[in-house]
Amino acid sequence: MKSGRQRRAEIMSRRNAKRAANLVKNKYLKGVSVANQYGRQHGSVPVNPANLSPNNSYGIPEFVKRGFYADLPFTCKQCGTPQIWTAQQQHWWYELAKGDVWTIAVLCRPCRIKESERKALARKIHLEGLLRKRQLSNNNLSQEIIANKQLMMQL
Ligand SMILES: [Zn+2]
Repeated sequence: MKSGRQRRAEIMSRRNAKRAANLVKNKYLKGVSVANQYGRQHGSVPVNPANLSPNNSYGIPEFVKRGFYADLPFTCKQCGTPQIWTAQQQHWWYELAKGDVWTIAVLCRPCRIKESERKALARKIHLEGLLRKRQLSNNNLSQEIIANKQLMMQL
């Protein structure tokens, strides 16, 4: 006869094995490696160099040499708030958004949003200016055509 403790240990180990097998199966189905899952839990994510944007530099970035992304503390250049650029965010930036491998985060999220709004506004003003200029020159052109027509009618 087994003791309650022994029986419990057996049940737990069976349950753990089943859970691990399910984890492997689910991750395999989703196309995400178990290593990636492990990395997410421990603040690091493996680097897949094939997904990085190509560059002409002879150097190899630190994270590529290391083989995984790790949470990176930094200070926002705009507001000076201490921030963490997470391994997940780095993975997204370098491998999915195809960001330059030599760039790192310099702005916190609120400052980045403000900065992109500022850029969008500047672009809008610039485009409106161009449009106004074109309309003006179009007006000048049509006035010129009318003047030419009138001149020809006089001849
Ligand atoms: Zn900031």
